[in-house]
Amino acid sequence: LFNFSAGPAVLPLEVLQEAQADLINYKGTGMSVMEMSHRGKEFMGIAAKAEEDLRKLLNIPSNYKVLFLQGGASTQFSMIPLNFAGPEDTTDNIVTGSWSKKTIDEAKKFSKANLVAKGDNKSIPAPSTWNLSPDAKYVHYCDNETIQGVEFKSVPDVGNKVLVSDMSSNFVSKPVDVSKYGLIYAGAQKNVGPAGVTIVIVREDLVGKARPDCPTMLDYKTHAENESMYNTPPCYAMYVCGLVFEHLLKKGGLEAVYANNVEKAKILYDAIEASNGFYNNPVDPACRSLMNVPFTIPSNPELEKAFIKEAEKLNMVQLKGHRSVGGMRASIYNAMPLDGVKTLAAFMKDFQAKNV
Ligand code: PLP
Repeated sequence: LFNFSAGPAVLPLEVLQEAQADLINYKGTGMSVMEMSHRGKEFMGIAAKAEEDLRKLLNIPSNYKVLFLQGGASTQFSMIPLNFAGPEDTTDNIVTGSWSKKTIDEAKKFSKANLVAKGDNKSIPAPSTWNLSPDAKYVHYCDNETIQGVEFKSVPDVGNKVLVSDMSSNFVSKPVDVSKYGLIYAGAQKNVGPAGVTIVIVREDLVGKARPDCPTMLDYKTHAENESMYNTPPCYAMYVCGLVFEHLLKKGGLEAVYANNVEKAKILYDAIEASNGFYNNPVDPACRSLMNVPFTIPSNPELEKAFIKEAEKLNMVQLKGHRSVGGMRASIYNAMPLDGVKTLAAFMKDFQAKNV
């Protein structure tokens, strides 16, 4: 079965098999990882290895903290302004789709949130039109808009401002120069693990500056000083993330992962282009997502339901587009095999031939 879910998404089969083998008796300990003390030797080892492997994968500089938090990426929308800005401070926000719109709406509650630029859900506004404020505490953007399928292809140039990025849906899908960022965050449930853990990579000098009324659990310092073990961490989810990091390193690291993702996305975008308008992806080719490929059948939207149903019969599932935009969406995260994308492209061609 090929699962095109936008998340929670598929994990590599090898990872699921390893987790299965260890489920009841982790490496002869007699316990499941779910049953271990998070302060015990075994789990501390699992957590340390997960962090070490993520550091290797993304080449994270030593002056950055890696945090494994809860509350989903959505909690970061308020945690970021609470830590980096006071109520009278300006925060800069670039909006390119639904998720970055949610981010600015939350930032407005805790700061003077400036809208730097607003995209049309199909493209990224030209940097020359951006209204960056001189005194913003940070600039936030979403590297990959999961719903619209709009992805930045380079790091936005914001001068010497602190750059903050939501990488929930393209985390570890490509190499990233972490040193260009103040903070990167990602909900794990697309490319790295089960839902329930949010990964935050934050430059050390930015930690410890939360406003005085920031709740303890929302203060990065709380988690940074306690190695993400201030309270019970999402142990099992962290363990699975660790398996995924190890798996990606074995696959050759993020250069290899990225090359594979480029190849997969090209097959789908080529299939859309080759349909001569039967299928449409509205996104500017310069910022088409490698992870989430939304498409419609503009001449006859009624056919979209049939498309989704027939694909399901052929074991291609969760192709329905997000409820806010309709149509179809093929999410092709790291764990989607090349075969899945080829099978979908072939089906698209057949479906068109039967329905023109
Ligand atoms: N940001 C992006 C880009 C997302 O795709 C999502 C979820 O799909 C979120 C944030 C919210 O993540 P969570 O459900 O972990 O709060």
